[in-house]
Amino acid sequence: MSDTAVLDQAEAGGTRTQPQYEVVVVGAGVAGIYQIKRLVDLGIEATVLEAAPGLGGTWYWNRYPGARFDSESYTYGYSFSRELLDEWHWKERFSSQPENLKYLEFVADKFDLRRHMQFDSKIESMTWDEANNIWRVIIEGDGREVTCRFIVTGLGLLSAPTLPRLPGMDRFQGESFHTHFWPHEGVELAGKKVGIIGTGATAIQVIGEIADKVGQLTVFQRRANWAAPLSNGEISDEEMADIRARYDEIFEICARTPGGFEHEPDRRGFYNLTREERVELWDSLYGSPGFAIWLRNFVEIFIDDEANAEFSEYVADKIRERVDDPAVAEKLIPTDHGFGIQRVPMETNYYEAYNRDNVELVDISETPLEEVTETGLRTSDKEFEFDVIVYATGFDAITGAFDRIDITGVDGEKLADRWKEGPSTYLGMTVHGFPNMLMLAGPQSGSASTNFPRGIETGVDWATEMLEYVWEKGYTRFDATVEAEADWTRHVEKMYSSMLMRKAKSWFTGYNSNVEGHEAGKIRYYVYNGGAPKFVARLADVAQADYEGIDFA
Ligand code: NAP
Repeated sequence: MSDTAVLDQAEAGGTRTQPQYEVVVVGAGVAGIYQIKRLVDLGIEATVLEAAPGLGGTWYWNRYPGARFDSESYTYGYSFSRELLDEWHWKERFSSQPENLKYLEFVADKFDLRRHMQFDSKIESMTWDEANNIWRVIIEGDGREVTCRFIVTGLGLLSAPTLPRLPGMDRFQGESFHTHFWPHEGVELAGKKVGIIGTGATAIQVIGEIADKVGQLTVFQRRANWAAPLSNGEISDEEMADIRARYDEIFEICARTPGGFEHEPDRRGFYNLTREERVELWDSLYGSPGFAIWLRNFVEIFIDDEANAEFSEYVADKIRERVDDPAVAEKLIPTDHGFGIQRVPMETNYYEAYNRDNVELVDISETPLEEVTETGLRTSDKEFEFDVIVYATGFDAITGAFDRIDITGVDGEKLADRWKEGPSTYLGMTVHGFPNMLMLAGPQSGSASTNFPRGIETGVDWATEMLEYVWEKGYTRFDATVEAEADWTRHVEKMYSSMLMRKAKSWFTGYNSNVEGHEAGKIRYYVYNGGAPKFVARLADVAQADYEGIDFA
């Protein structure tokens, strides 16, 4: 096939450009891999365009020490193939990055998917061609054009890393990098003086992992973050056999819980129980594996200030028990938000790291970072020398990856302009004025706010079935209506009103101090808070009603 679109003279009404591909899938991560599998199975002419030299998305890039799931591994794997479930052995309850990447490669190879993937193909722009009902995609670097009828994005929620806006960032003579770009050949840390900026889920994994391996570790914390033990462990052959036998049951439980995990919320009612009964639950949850502490907790923790405050104080006491120096412990206890209203980082040896002589906590809310120097970092109080600076400073979440592609829809409208003040979508799957584009885990999608692969399978299945409907009917264009998009966006916004998370400075609310316009003060309604079961039901209803809210032509 040639690189430019083919002209089909036979098209009724004159000359119409036929696209090279029926579908382009953007991204070869967890979402893109399953999406291309579904399309290949249907015999559709489709390709994946991936910016990286390899597949895996998040698990290709994030190679920092300590990177691992905080979903139970066996709930993170794909559920679509019994054979795959039977063949793969998860070795740890919360599997680490190298193994996760191996898994995704295993899946791609097992189903022979690599030949449908084009790597090193970072998309520069996507432009809707209204005359021909096709998308024109330009690849960065060689300027190659790829055309397609439909685009399905699997861009990732957290794939646009952000660095602080500090003077002197390029002056530092040692090694420095964002955790997302941790050097693939590894970094020699033994005996080194390491500075790390950030105390989000990423930093908390790194710190717990490297504290006993580096010479000196200095942690620059702007705001403390609530974290709780991950409690990882190995999965024996016998346990894995049991998991295999229970897969149907496991996925059924995941499907009925709001977060897509095995963890089901406690619905007994916070105020129906005595303080002793509440503490009894919390004692059983603190230290039990994974998100249990967050997602098996009382529902009120998420919506009621008083309930949240009582539980937060319980966790604060745990931090005080684990950190030797009371002054350091107090600094590690968040004061600006309660437990669980930001995404909870799961940790291994995080708090114990601060009991080591070679680990120092610097509170940059008191003494802000002022610049990067040739030899390290300078705060308003003093200068620090480092061999390595690690930026664990987060991501321009969810819409960031879209904003980094020049996406032009009907009448030359840019998606970045449309979403400047925050996203609006229909079902988190489509955007009016950007026809023939489906988003897997886009903003406001229920697929984005659950245990990722569980949500992704929902998104991919719905997108694929919708495309099958389009092909069956012989349509070449679809577009969400203005009304349907406005209704959904209002619905998503309304759900934030009951959630304490609306008050948090977190990526759930579109906060990121490193991105202009995303500083604190304005909520961006990024995630659907209705939970997976309601989202799945809504998608099914829309499909059942001949995709109401979407115009076809
Ligand atoms: P993050 O939660 O956004 O944390 C970024 C950290 O960097 C925060 O502590 C932030 O401080 C700090 N920071 C950012 N810019 C700064 C600046 N200019 N100066 C000083 N400090 C700055 O990012 P993340 O830790 O990478 O985690 C993002 C998400 O990725 C998580 O919520 C999670 O969903 C996902 N994740 C998942 C896993 C897993 O599955 N196991 C592991 C890691 C991450 P402030 O709080 O003051 O802004």
